[in-house]
Amino acid sequence: MKYCIECGTRLKEKYLEDEGMIPYCETCGDFRFPVFSTAVSMIVLSPERDRILLIQQYGTGNNVLVAGYINCGENAEAAVIREVAEETGLNVTSLQYNKSEYFKKSNTLMLNYTCIADSNSLDRINTKEVDKAQWFSIKDAPEKIMQNSLAQRFLLNYLNNTGRGEQYQK
Ligand SMILES: [Zn+2]
Repeated sequence: MKYCIECGTRLKEKYLEDEGMIPYCETCGDFRFPVFSTAVSMIVLSPERDRILLIQQYGTGNNVLVAGYINCGENAEAAVIREVAEETGLNVTSLQYNKSEYFKKSNTLMLNYTCIADSNSLDRINTKEVDKAQWFSIKDAPEKIMQNSLAQRFLLNYLNNTGRGEQYQK
């Protein structure tokens, strides 16, 4: 961040106790900490926990995890439940946090969760936001998901950490 988000003045570094050198706006007289978005990414498991939901969006034909931005004032767990419901019509429970990764392309910190769907039905998919949604077996999902993507890294991390994906250790 080179310029103040409030007034546009070029930022200088200034020492802040316990923090070190932090970008500082001399016009506002205030420190400017990094600004970025926060989003959630979901490994949605079937009620039997034997299949994983992957979706395609924006005409790309790539299978990815359900994901979405966290609203200002909303906690991450509420965003998980809301985004899955909005995009797929599924209700999810048993949320578990997995890991996070910063996604530079959209200046977004992605928080990955696992959750369990209450139904296998994909009849209530939001066709405005989702081109296609499909359940894949635990075995097939790592091969069907977009390769070398953040979604794939999250999925492999989950499978390896839960002992469900030993064959995918690299
Ligand atoms: Zn300023």
